[in-house]
Amino acid sequence: MSVHTGRLLLRPRDPFLLPERALLTSVLADAGLLGAPLAGDDNAFAVGERFLQLVTFAGCSVRIELSPVGDAPFCHIRFAGPFRRPVFLSGRNTRPPRCPACRALLRSWKESLPDREAPEPMPIACPACGEASPPWDYDWKEQAGFGRLFVWIEEVFPGEATPTPALMALLAEATGYEWRHFYLQD
Ligand SMILES: [Zn+2]
Repeated sequence: MSVHTGRLLLRPRDPFLLPERALLTSVLADAGLLGAPLAGDDNAFAVGERFLQLVTFAGCSVRIELSPVGDAPFCHIRFAGPFRRPVFLSGRNTRPPRCPACRALLRSWKESLPDREAPEPMPIACPACGEASPPWDYDWKEQAGFGRLFVWIEEVFPGEATPTPALMALLAEATGYEWRHFYLQD
């Protein structure tokens, strides 16, 4: 098993909002981000014909596989969720977030985060200034995120690709609220 390259995830800025998956599927397919569903998986899609206009890849040496070749990883899109309440997604690239009040690092983030099964996510008190903030108000620097539904773009090295303003505007227009992006490596 090779090391996971990474993925780009899109989520509503407000982690409590739940976009409708069917609506997103149709809007993103119309826009050319999503292509055909992948065989044997009704939740995964090939990238669409305008994928490379909606997601910008940095650097000239980037090589992305846009269609499956044998068992090699390739670029595709899926949805994660819907979840009944905001879930926290993190990966090996996740680093301590910063307190929204004083910018100190929350080094104990792994121990401080509420249990995924907890009925209500509890605010986390900053060890530096004592201010208690909900976990999603901490600055995770695009290295973790909370949400109830995620657009999940596989095989993107963190920071290598960014959603264009046009894609973010499309999501905002379709759902009525702002979106953000982040990256994870398993
Ligand atoms: Zn603080």
